Amino acid sequence: MSADMIDPGTTVLTIGRRIRHFRAAAGMTLDDLAGQVGTAPSQLSLIENGHREPRLTLLQAIASALGVELAALLAAEPPSRRDGLEIALDTAQRGPLYATLGLPRVRAGKRLPTEALEALVGLHAELARRSSEASATPEEARRANTELRRAMRARDNYLEEIEDAAEELLGTVGYSSGPLTHRTVEQIVSHLGFSLHHARDLPSSTRTVTDLEHGRIYLPPASLPGGHGLRSLALQAVAHRVLGHTHPGTYADFLRQRLEISYFAACVLMPRHAATEFLLTAKRNRDLAVEDLRDAFGVTHESAAHRFTNLATSQLGITVHFARVGRDGTLFKGYENDDVDFPTDVTGAIEGQTVCRHWTSRTVFDHNDLAGEFHQYTDTPSGTYWCSAQTGQGADGDFSVTLGVPFAAAKWFRGRETTSRSVSRCPDPTCCRQPSADLTAKWRGAAWPSAKLHTHILGALPSGTFPGVDDAEVYAFLEAHAPR
Ligand SMILES: [Zn+2]
Repeated sequence: MSADMIDPGTTVLTIGRRIRHFRAAAGMTLDDLAGQVGTAPSQLSLIENGHREPRLTLLQAIASALGVELAALLAAEPPSRRDGLEIALDTAQRGPLYATLGLPRVRAGKRLPTEALEALVGLHAELARRSSEASATPEEARRANTELRRAMRARDNYLEEIEDAAEELLGTVGYSSGPLTHRTVEQIVSHLGFSLHHARDLPSSTRTVTDLEHGRIYLPPASLPGGHGLRSLALQAVAHRVLGHTHPGTYADFLRQRLEISYFAACVLMPRHAATEFLLTAKRNRDLAVEDLRDAFGVTHESAAHRFTNLATSQLGITVHFARVGRDGTLFKGYENDDVDFPTDVTGAIEGQTVCRHWTSRTVFDHNDLAGEFHQYTDTPSGTYWCSAQTGQGADGDFSVTLGVPFAAAKWFRGRETTSRSVSRCPDPTCCRQPSADLTAKWRGAAWPSAKLHTHILGALPSGTFPGVDDAEVYAFLEAHAPR
């Protein structure tokens, strides 16, 4: 007989329990069976309790003494429910998860009530489930994020039902056109049965907290820089109510709700009709510009660029892409329905990937004249795009916000006459990811960079000779600073 006859799910304890089960069924004591197979009762007891692995010859002797097939002793199923629970507890207590808790092992002897055994096994199963859930989260988050981005692409980033809800609400407070004041936001919030309160001691993990019982929304102090963001925060807080959100059951639900509330806030701050009218006029005059939308509605450049993507295809018939990119090239956020080729990881996620060095999102950092938007035409394998970018400073460092359109749509935008041009061959690694052959020959082995730790969780480390380090950047730096 070979070892592969043994079911891989069978444990030493299961075999022991099956022996004990058949021994009891045959009405034999430990002494009886031990005598028949020529071993000591203490040895047999150790085997029955899973503390010793029986040799195959002994197993065969036991099987014939008990009048059962050898296969019956080697089956994976516990002989009874109680045995199954005892085996489950034993297995769980031997596992690495339980070891990390530093708790004593409970012996699943006869005197342990089945009820207590059930509870312990249930707790172990839940502990294992929670532990695997926690470690699956970053992956789950990335997949959920990718799914959501694809769903939004299929709808051209336009959610009509939320546009309608926002418009209806604006009607109740008599909004007609122009930027929304803080006072109007207060009226909307109060119309929905809430009041706004500023607090210095908001929990650091929260942006706002809503007291549903008393209809109070707590916001950070109004004196904080970037106070225009407060209107958006207040609107996002009431949006859960307006949109009928219930407690999110999954991470995907949570993410979709986050998207919907920020969509709602954008719809209120840049209402569909007013914003569309504004943009259509600019398009007729071939004078479309994100900065104008920003200034007309008193929002951030990023909010305006993002809002433009909601209305561009649905209202203006223009496909677009949007990107928020860090100075080091990390893509924080992106949207496209114009086939621009965002870098992706194996799961299809774009967040944390590095965009091409020749894209406007990155070249804007070299051309920043502080006067306003930077424009560039970029030839890529998926076509030529005209892009407009603006840089800013955030909590996570310098970043750029880019809005781009296919070449044919550039004619509607201010800045189309730009002479800045660039060629991107990414994802071909020789475009900008690999250092040139001569620099590699010169510096490989002579460069010892110390990598910065990436702070953003979703960030994937660019792979170079040193983990997290961009070789092309390091070699170019060394080349520029080397003594001649
Ligand atoms: Zn490139």
